[in-house]
Amino acid sequence: MTVKNIEIYDTTLRDGAQAEGVSFSAVAKVQIAKRLDEFGIATIEGGFAASNPKDMEFFRLIKKETLKNSKIAAFGSTRRANIAPEDDKGLAALLEADTPVCTIFGKSWLLHVTDVLQTTAEENLAMIADSVRFLKEHGKEVIFDAEHFYDGYKDNPEYALSALKAAADAGADCLVLCETNGGALQEEVAQITAAVVNAFDIPVGVHSHNDGELGVANALAAVNAGAVHVQGTINGIGERVGNCNLSSVIPNLMLKMGLDCLPNAENLKQLRALSQFVYEQANMRPFTKQAFVGDSAFAHKAGMHVDGVRKVPHSFEHINPESVGSKRRILISELSGASNVFLKAIEMGLELDRKSPEVRDVLKQLEQMEKEGYEYESADASFQMLIKKVLKKHQSFFELESFSVTVDRQGATPGCRSEAKVKLSVKGESIEADGSGDGPVDALNHALRDALSQFYPTIADVVLRDYSVRILDPEEATAAKTRVLIESGDGKATWGTVGVSENIIEASWEALVDSVEYKLFLEEEKTRK
Ligand SMILES: [Zn+2]
Repeated sequence: MTVKNIEIYDTTLRDGAQAEGVSFSAVAKVQIAKRLDEFGIATIEGGFAASNPKDMEFFRLIKKETLKNSKIAAFGSTRRANIAPEDDKGLAALLEADTPVCTIFGKSWLLHVTDVLQTTAEENLAMIADSVRFLKEHGKEVIFDAEHFYDGYKDNPEYALSALKAAADAGADCLVLCETNGGALQEEVAQITAAVVNAFDIPVGVHSHNDGELGVANALAAVNAGAVHVQGTINGIGERVGNCNLSSVIPNLMLKMGLDCLPNAENLKQLRALSQFVYEQANMRPFTKQAFVGDSAFAHKAGMHVDGVRKVPHSFEHINPESVGSKRRILISELSGASNVFLKAIEMGLELDRKSPEVRDVLKQLEQMEKEGYEYESADASFQMLIKKVLKKHQSFFELESFSVTVDRQGATPGCRSEAKVKLSVKGESIEADGSGDGPVDALNHALRDALSQFYPTIADVVLRDYSVRILDPEEATAAKTRVLIESGDGKATWGTVGVSENIIEASWEALVDSVEYKLFLEEEKTRK
């Protein structure tokens, strides 16, 4: 028996772009489309053909690219009421987008036809049929998105099905059932999808939303009921709380249900990188607790779990993390036993004997540092530096000679200027650099990176993604210490570092130094391989 193919239809660039706070430039959209193509997504919905010039610009730009796996779809609606398809601006824009696939949405819930669209039941069916036929006559592959299908079917199954029939009879290539409001439960989705699959002999698809936290579950339920086309977005970004998350649907379909949805099963290993890339382009912080691809997806903290995965990985892991390009992480905290430290060292590529005095030394040092206020759970990179230091495998890439920071405000108008000066000794040379920024830490970061970048050009790739501060021991105000956590990234990886001091600038400096040293270690390891 051959494995069934599921067509993955990505709408990150259209429905995903409707998410609060997300706005992709046409160029960013092209970058994302190229990554989706590389990954092996079957169809990429590029945007709303009629609505904005940015989307039309995308359609123009993407034509210049040679895509290996993906077809581009333009999105639009059925013609307006009481007008010929030839005279409809939306349909004209779909043709102008010049894509092989056109996806049009139409009404299948009678309530929407009469109360929202304010037309008649018959005219709506004619709008669907005319629009599909018009696009077919122009040689397009036509996907019909039946908006509010599940709610419409629950309200009036005959009418909902007649909307699909209008599209199918006019030549639609695929009927997509939209769970537009995101409130349906899996059983309903399964039953209704099965009824549609039985009634039509063209492919049926599903487009679900996550309002009931069931976007993925509903898509899988539809597939179980016979759907062969799944729409969603990378990381589930989209309107309100989001769309069906393709970053979860795809591994579930492939690894749990044994279905094929990529041209090459090996591509699944690019999933985490794709997820991170889309977060970068959307200017969003990655959701660390995201299934399959989040930083915490395979992070183990409790000593017993850590011991378990060391002996048998699947004792506490539902899949092999590498199959989706993720990595197992061992979290280090005061709860950690020797197991965690030992595994962390292995994760770092250090040879260590579990019962060796070194592991004990690391534990002792860890205990001491935690007493002083350090916390390593979200500061992996600092922990790695700590181990290297205890094992005397740490090598400094530079030494600090001095730094100074000034913050200057003039008059009553809000707004400060921050300047920093850093003096380092690098490879035997003394070097000085200035930096300015929104705040003192930003200025210090710029000065540090400026000083280092002439010796280590890859430092330029590192960006600070997050900065958080906690005041420790607030009851002893004079001795209060500040803990600074910094999250850095270079577009491929993210890492956390920590610094502690009575002075917030010094704590920040410590975390900054660990962050750049970690990056330099990564680079050095790469050249050694
Ligand atoms: Zn949608």
